[in-house]
Amino acid sequence: MAGTGIRPARTAGVRAGTGVGAGAGVRAEGGVRARAAVLVLIAAVLVTGCGGQRADGSKGADGSDGKGGGVRVDAPRTPSATPSTPATPAAPTPPPTPPTPPGQTSSPDPKLPPPLVSMDIAHAVEGGGRSVNITIDDGPDPTWTPKILKILRDNGARATFCMIGPQAEAHPDLVKRVVADGHRLCDHTVTHNTSMDHRSKAYQKDQILVAAGQITRASGGVKPLYYRAPGGAFTPYSRQIAASAGMRPLGWNVDSKDYEEPGVHAITHLVKHELGNGPTILFHDGGGDRGQTAAALRKLLPWLRHHGYGFGFPVR
Ligand SMILES: [Zn+2]
Repeated sequence: MAGTGIRPARTAGVRAGTGVGAGAGVRAEGGVRARAAVLVLIAAVLVTGCGGQRADGSKGADGSDGKGGGVRVDAPRTPSATPSTPATPAAPTPPPTPPTPPGQTSSPDPKLPPPLVSMDIAHAVEGGGRSVNITIDDGPDPTWTPKILKILRDNGARATFCMIGPQAEAHPDLVKRVVADGHRLCDHTVTHNTSMDHRSKAYQKDQILVAAGQITRASGGVKPLYYRAPGGAFTPYSRQIAASAGMRPLGWNVDSKDYEEPGVHAITHLVKHELGNGPTILFHDGGGDRGQTAAALRKLLPWLRHHGYGFGFPVR
């Protein structure tokens, strides 16, 4: 899939020597002088040859204490005086690192909003086990979505519907039926541009977030939980934008190629044959005559159940 490269991990910089050297300015002769002061028992005026430790523990930029070697008179000092603890200079504040969702291998761009869910492309089934993720793209469609909803219901199957924003907006009743039947919503952009990975960041962001708003309004407030780029045209940027809006990027393992209308048998054969690739299977309920898709699902869903598969949702 284009544009899914993993960027190298960014290592938080640690400056060498930070915090080291504080308080290092205490000179050994300070104690000798103190003992001399006690022994001589004269006036509590100590003649010192150096500045000793700075009150703030700091040192000059070159490591010196900034004092010359001249004799000077300090304030009275008693042997019992507790040496002051040098203040520790404040550690430099590291640049904020976005929290990384558990298991995420992608490195978020710290200049972008942090991901709320993993920005890695999901393929697995939530909760694991022997289940498949039925995913149905390019709708909702007033002809085909109701038919496919009925087939899913007849087979007790759940699915994830990757919707095109304006179509969701045009058919809010269908979006609500999808949600009411217990399926999940997925953002499939505004215009379904399969070359969007070559477009500007502003374009990609609009495609994702505008469609998410359209789907959410059509559903009556239920947000899409996934983002599937048309044709898999993800970029690291688009994956983070989606994940920062709570949508897990969603891939697939088995492309049923139902949109090529190769015949019902070809669709079912391909899916059965490629099921070993992984659990997420791609179908369509929009973009043309989906009669073959419906017929294939009518055969495949009972077959899957018969072979011990459950129907789940992709991980988030
Ligand atoms: Zn699509």
